Amino acid sequence: MASVTRMTIHELREALVTKKISVSETVRAYLERIDALNPRLQCFLTVLAEKALQEAEDYDAGRKDLSASPLAGIPIAVKDVLCTEGIRTTCGSKILENFFPPYDATVVSRLKSSGAILLGKTNMDEFAMGSSNENSAFGTARNPWDPTRVPGGSSGGSAAAVAADLCAAALGTDTGGSIRQPASFCGIVGLKPTYGRVSRYGLVAFASSLDQVGPMTKDVRDAALLLSVLAGHDPKDSTSIDHPVEDYAAAVEASIRGLRIGMPKEYFIEGMDPDVADATHKACRLFQDLGAELVEVSLPHTAYGVAAYYIIAPAEASSNLARYDGVKYGYRFPEARDLMTMYKESRSRGFGAEVKRRIMLGTYCLSAGYYDAYYRKASQVRTLIRRDFTEAFQKSDVLVAPVSPTAAFKIGEKTENPLQMYLNDVFTLPASLAGIPGLSLPCGYTTEGLPIGLQILGPPLGEATVLRAAYHFEQATRTARRMPSLSENA
Ligand code: GLN
Repeated sequence: MASVTRMTIHELREALVTKKISVSETVRAYLERIDALNPRLQCFLTVLAEKALQEAEDYDAGRKDLSASPLAGIPIAVKDVLCTEGIRTTCGSKILENFFPPYDATVVSRLKSSGAILLGKTNMDEFAMGSSNENSAFGTARNPWDPTRVPGGSSGGSAAAVAADLCAAALGTDTGGSIRQPASFCGIVGLKPTYGRVSRYGLVAFASSLDQVGPMTKDVRDAALLLSVLAGHDPKDSTSIDHPVEDYAAAVEASIRGLRIGMPKEYFIEGMDPDVADATHKACRLFQDLGAELVEVSLPHTAYGVAAYYIIAPAEASSNLARYDGVKYGYRFPEARDLMTMYKESRSRGFGAEVKRRIMLGTYCLSAGYYDAYYRKASQVRTLIRRDFTEAFQKSDVLVAPVSPTAAFKIGEKTENPLQMYLNDVFTLPASLAGIPGLSLPCGYTTEGLPIGLQILGPPLGEATVLRAAYHFEQATRTARRMPSLSENA
C-alpha cells in the first residue's frame, strides 16, 4: 500500500472503506507530516489538529457513516480566502489577522456535508493578489520541488500542500490564474471552473466578475470528484449558474478519439522558456497519438489580456476592499483621535504594498475622466477576448496551451518589478476574462527537474470535456510522473 499521505482521494477512499486504514490513522499521518514539513514550506496558516482528530474519531467509532458520502473521512485543506465559521480567515492579510467569520462559505458547507475533514487553512498572496505567494503577510509558502523557489500564486499554499502530501486535496481560487499557475509550478492538477459554476458565497471578494473557486488535487479523477461536490446553483450567489451538475468522475473515461484539440497560435510564441515550449509541443503530439485531431486556431486579442485584466481586476478590487475601514471588522488603528485618521491609519498599516498599489490603480481607472479611457476600454477588450474564444470553439472542442511562460522562479526574482510579475500571467488571464473553464496538469519537467504544466481550456460549462482530455493525457504519461523528494527529517 502506498504511503497514506501520498494517496489520491479515490485511493484513500478505497483504503478507508475497506478498513485497510482508519480515519484517525490517516489524519494523524497528515498531522505528523505537517509538523515535520510546514515550518519549512509554510503552506498552512492554521492547522485544525484537534478538530480533525475529533471528526476522525467520530468515523472510527461509527458515530458518522463512512460509506454515506463521497468525501467521508478525506482530509482537505482550504485556501484562507474562504470563510470558515469560527475559524480564523486571514486572506493572507494583516488587516484580517484576527477575523473569525460567523458563517461558512458555500463550498466549505458542501465539503462538510460530503464528509470531508477540514485539515486547515492555506497560505496565499494577500487578498489573492499575486503570482508567487510573496505577497502573503505571513511569509512566503515554498515550492516543495525546490524551497528556494516560489510555489506560484495566489493559491500557492494549497498547491504546495497538495504536492508535499500535507493534505489529500485542497481548494484554491482563481481570478486570473491563481489555481492553474501554482498547480503548474508544483506539479499537481488544478481546475478553474466556468465563472458561475461554483458558488462564490463566502469567498472574500477580490474581483467579483472573475473570482472562482476550484479543486487542486493529485490527479484528474480527484479534480472531477471534487468538482461534482463543489458545483451547483446557490441562491446565495446571484451569479451562480442554475445548470445540472454532471458526474464528472464518470465522464472522464469516455474516449477522446476524434476530439478536436485547438492550438491557439498566439500561445505558441517566441520568448517562452524552451523547456516549456518543448513540453507543450510534445503534449500536442501525444494527443494526436491518442486519436485526437489537432487544429490550429487563433485568439487574436490575446496580447491585450494582461492590460485589460490589470485594469478590470484592480478596479473591482478597489471597490471590494473599501469595506476594510477599521469600523466593522478587521484591523483598527488604536490610537486615532478622529475618524479620518482612523480610516487612513487602519488601511495604511493593515494592507500590504501590492494591495495598496492595486487599490490606487483601480481607483484611478474608475475616477471621473479616466473611466472611459481605462475601465470602459478594458471592458470592451474583454468582450473581444471572449469572442475570440467563442470563435475558436466553433473549430475545436478544447484548447491546449502553456500555463506559464516559465517553470517556478526563484523567491525574490520578480519582486522588484511588478510588471514582470504581471506578465507571468499572460497565458492564464484571457480564460479568466472570458469566464471559461481551464485546467492545469503536469506535462513534463525542465532540465533542472521542475514541473511544467499544460493548460486545457474548454467552452463555458465544458468542464466534462476538459477533464476527459486531461484524464487521457494523464493516463498516457503516468509512468513519467515524478514526485518532489522531501525528507521529513531534513
Ligand atoms: N496573478 C494574478 C493577480 O495577481 C491572478 C491572481 C488570482 O487569480 N487570484 O491578480
